[in-house]
Amino acid sequence: MTTEKSKDLDYWKSNAEEDYITTPISVLKYITELEQQVKSVDLADVGDCCPACKSTNSSDNSTYENNGIIGSGFASWKTSDSRACNDCGCIFKPIKGN
Ligand SMILES: [Zn+2]
Repeated sequence: MTTEKSKDLDYWKSNAEEDYITTPISVLKYITELEQQVKSVDLADVGDCCPACKSTNSSDNSTYENNGIIGSGFASWKTSDSRACNDCGCIFKPIKGN
């Protein structure tokens, strides 16, 4: 038995194209707008998305260490890479791109 889940977007697109003549313009316009929204989602921001509430409102919660030198020669580095969600308080690791 074929379920809706096993049908991919291409299936539904070709299915819709067969019937589009009977589809009201307003519905087609809505779909076009939805497609624009999906395409405009910046994939670079996904790594900063909270895994709990999907909020992108998060801030850097990484911890740093330094070599103790004040002034020239000072160096610091990240010892852990994490972000804190400003909406639910969840601490999570950002997903690196590439
Ligand atoms: Zn959250």
